[in-house]
Amino acid sequence: MGYREIRKAEYFLRLLFPARCICCDMVLPINASEEVCSECGKSLKTLNKFGYVNLPGSIITKVYSVFEYEGGIRKAIHRLKFGESPRNAFVLVDLSYPILKSFLDRQFPCMPCSNYDIIIPAPLHPKRKRRRGYNQSELIASRLAYHMKIPMLKGVLVKKINTPPQSQLRRGERLKNLIGVFHVKKPNLIKDRRILLVDDIMTTGSTLEQCAKALMDAGAKQVDAYVIAMRRRL
Ligand SMILES: [Zn+2]
Repeated sequence: MGYREIRKAEYFLRLLFPARCICCDMVLPINASEEVCSECGKSLKTLNKFGYVNLPGSIITKVYSVFEYEGGIRKAIHRLKFGESPRNAFVLVDLSYPILKSFLDRQFPCMPCSNYDIIIPAPLHPKRKRRRGYNQSELIASRLAYHMKIPMLKGVLVKKINTPPQSQLRRGERLKNLIGVFHVKKPNLIKDRRILLVDDIMTTGSTLEQCAKALMDAGAKQVDAYVIAMRRRL
């Protein structure tokens, strides 16, 4: 873990509101420069490939992800989704963005980050969003939009039906659960656009696939995706 010099005002602020590890919630040393404790830091696994061509037949050309969905990242995402830690969304993007950027810069050397026109978060059904208080994918997308300097559009791709959580379903049921539930409200904002779709994790890829299908049906030119973490074996 790194340490840094802190000013007096920040020192007292940190005494009152100590920084906590985004993975395990442990209070961090007062001058810690990172948001992850040294123990959890050891369990953050980055994927070997950050961009890759998706499974054959998929609408999405590439899914970008930096972390494997396990260890500290899994805990941090769990706390983001179920532990009322919305701030984790920003920290997770800040952790992964430098790695993503270096990949995008290599892939598009002449037009860094400008290969996409808009960023769109995977939607939650309004009922689920009200209960949680926020849509974690929207928070991730807004932070990514800030870093990439690309506008984020929310409320355009919507979830019409409140389906059971994907995590409670078996693999075969996950795709069926989502067919036809996503809808584009204003297709004129999507038409001919190159879209970066954003979600927190990718497990079977059903959510991303069905969101991408709705966007392509509405006239999008291209849909790629970015997630904080994915399972290594799909
Ligand atoms: Zn920790």
